[in-house]
Amino acid sequence: MCSAATKPLDSLIRDRITDLQQDIPPSVTLMAVSKKKTALCVRAAYDCGLRHFGESRIQEAVPKQEEVADLSDLVWHFIGTLQSNKAKKAIAHFHWIHSVDSLKLAQRLDRLSQEEHRRPNLCLQVKVLPDPHKSGWNIDELTKALPELYQLSHVAIRGLMVIPPLGLNREETRRCFLKAAHLFKTIQNESANHWTQFDQLSMGMSGDYQEAIAAGSTIIRLGRTIFGERDQ
Ligand SMILES: *Cc1c(COP(=O)(O)O)cnc(C)c1O
Repeated sequence: MCSAATKPLDSLIRDRITDLQQDIPPSVTLMAVSKKKTALCVRAAYDCGLRHFGESRIQEAVPKQEEVADLSDLVWHFIGTLQSNKAKKAIAHFHWIHSVDSLKLAQRLDRLSQEEHRRPNLCLQVKVLPDPHKSGWNIDELTKALPELYQLSHVAIRGLMVIPPLGLNREETRRCFLKAAHLFKTIQNESANHWTQFDQLSMGMSGDYQEAIAAGSTIIRLGRTIFGERDQ
């Protein structure tokens, strides 16, 4: 996998990214999800112009980040479930955290950001449809938490992150994304006096990014479409 000798895989990655770039409006940020892929894969995608990379496990990401530390304009996004005891590490190693799934975690990130003199960008992970397999706020919980989230001054709350439940068909996926986009706009209006940069809707993965873009996504998170299937 992206070992130094696999020139063909590098060019495969290049071809996939070139195709994607024709498919994606320039206003949409393409995040390359490099989980379970090597630092050489990151480097190959970087060479094709990508700068945003996503990882879902801190302990896997940190050594990989060190291997590409010479690429100083990389932007790292944390997209996995964040345990509170890893919050400090997440702030130290990532510019963005997309998976802020509770008020408690948001408050902890705020406190740690003050202590560490960091200002991470956060997305609030919201479940617009019920999903027992995923963490995140449901719409009611999120709406109720807004006044307390407005109090957090050491983090930049930038938007919402959405993962549809598994097993939806195209039409259901499309409706899930439209519902998310509506919620995003509503919160954007309501929060305008508090959050000046609430401008990102992180939704869309390899299987559904076209529907996500059509619904108004601003960041898509693609792993397999760029790097190929992951080993389990
Ligand atoms: C793994 C993962 C992705 C990328 O999934 P692909 O199907 O490989 O595109 C995107 N978002 C999150 C939260 C993920 O965990």
